Amino acid sequence: METKELEQLLNDVREFVVEELVPLENQLMQDGWEAVLPTLREKRKIVKSQGWWLPQMSKDIGGLGLSVAEFGRMSEILAWSPTGHYCFNAQAPDAGNIEILHQYGTDEQKAQFLQPLANGETRSCFSMTEPEHAGSNPTIMSTTAVKEGDSWIIDGHKWFTSAADGSAFAIVMAVTKPHAEKVYARASMIIVPTDTEGFNHVRRIKIMGEAGEDWASHSEIRYEDCRVPLENLLGGDGEGFVIAQQRLGPGRIHHCMRFIGMAERSLHLMCSRAAERELSPGVPLGSKQTIQNWIADSRAEINASRLLVLDAARKIDEVGTKAARNDISIIKFYTANMLMRVVDRAIQAHGALGVTDDTLLSWFYRHERGARIYDGADEVHRRVVARNELKPFGVKVT
Ligand SMILES: Cc1cc2nc3c(=O)[nH]c(=O)nc-3n(C[C@H](O)[C@H](O)[C@H](O)COP(=O)(O)OP(=O)(O)OC[C@H]3O[C@@H](n4cnc5c(N)ncnc54)[C@H](O)[C@@H]3O)c2cc1C
Repeated sequence: METKELEQLLNDVREFVVEELVPLENQLMQDGWEAVLPTLREKRKIVKSQGWWLPQMSKDIGGLGLSVAEFGRMSEILAWSPTGHYCFNAQAPDAGNIEILHQYGTDEQKAQFLQPLANGETRSCFSMTEPEHAGSNPTIMSTTAVKEGDSWIIDGHKWFTSAADGSAFAIVMAVTKPHAEKVYARASMIIVPTDTEGFNHVRRIKIMGEAGEDWASHSEIRYEDCRVPLENLLGGDGEGFVIAQQRLGPGRIHHCMRFIGMAERSLHLMCSRAAERELSPGVPLGSKQTIQNWIADSRAEINASRLLVLDAARKIDEVGTKAARNDISIIKFYTANMLMRVVDRAIQAHGALGVTDDTLLSWFYRHERGARIYDGADEVHRRVVARNELKPFGVKVT
C-alpha cells in the first residue's frame, strides 16, 4: 500500500476506535464482554462497510491485504481499546486459525470452516496446551487421535483453549504418529466442530477472579471418544508442529503491536492522571520527579519496542518467518515485559483507583499478565536468543 494511503487508513481507523469503541469501555469494565457484544456486532458492520474488515488477510477471502508490517501498525491502533481487534475480525486465536486454514486447508475445509470464520459468522479456538504437561515443551502431549474406519477418534485433556466458549470449531493438536522418529513429527492438527459428541466443555477458567465469557474467556476441554472425519486433518499427518510454527510468526507481530497499543493507552492514562490529580492546591502529581521518570522511561521503552517490532515485521515480509526467528523471539519477551512495566507504573500513579475496575488498567493487567507466558514464555524466547549469541563462542545452550 502507498505510504499516503496507509497513513490515511490508519488515521481513519484511529478516529473510529476513539469515537466508536472507547465509549463502550465503561460498560465492558462494569458489566463484562457479553453486555457489549450486541453493540460490537453493530460496530463490525460499520468496519465492513468501510472496507477495513480482516485487515491482516488477503483480498481473496475478504481481507484488506495489508502486509505483516502494515498490519502491525494498525494492530497498535486497534489495541487502544480492548474491543478493537474483535471489531475488525483480527483477534487471536481466530487470526492465527484463519492464516493456517488459508495456507493449509483443503478446498472443502476452506468452504466449511475458513470462509464463515473470515466473514465473521463464526469464531474458533486452538487447543494445544494440556494441564498435565509443560506447555513449554508441547512435544510431550497425551492427547491422541487414532484412525478408525473413516474417522479420527480423539481423546485428551486440554486447557487454556482461549475463546472456546461459543466457538464453532477447535483446531486440536493431537499425537497421530506416536512412533515417528522425530518428536516434532508425531502430532497433527485436526479440526473439531464444537458440537461433535465427545467435545466436552468443562469450564471457563477464572483468571484473577474473572471467568469471562464468549471470546473473552479461556476454557478447559475434555475430548472423550470424539469422532471426526479423516478429512478434518489440517495439512499432513505429523505436520502439526510445522504448521504451529508458521502460525506463530506473524501472530507474534500482532501480539507485540497489541502490547505496544496497550502500553500507549496506559501511558496516556498515567499522564492524564498525573496532570489532574493534585497532591496539594496547584501541585499536580506530574510535578514530582518520580512520576516524570516513570513517564519518560515508559515513552522510551514504548518507542524502542515499536522500532524492534516493525523491524521484525519487515524481516518477515522480506525473508519469511523462519529466517526472522531470532528477531521474533526478541520482540516477544521484550515487549511483553515492557507492557507489564508500563501498566504497573500507570497503576501505581493512579493509587487505589489503579487497582479498581474503574479504569482500563485492571483489564490490561488481568488479561495481559499472561503475555509473558503464552506464545512462548519469556525464558523460552530468551533461550533462543542466547543460543544464537553464544553459538560463535562454542557454548551449547541446553
Ligand atoms: C492468557 C493465556 C491464553 C492462552 N491461550 C492458549 C490457547 O488458546 N491455546 C493453547 O493451546 N494454549 C494457550 N495458552 C497456554 C500457553 O501456551 C502455555 O501456558 C505456555 O505454553 C506455557 O506452558 P505452561 O503454562 O504449561 O507452563 P510450563 O511449561 O509449565 O512453564 C512454567 C514456567 O517455567 C518457565 N520455563 C518454561 N520453560 C523454560 C525453560 N526452557 N527454561 C527456563 N524456564 C522455563 C517459564 O517461566 C514458564 O512460565 C494460553 C495461556 C495463557 C496464559
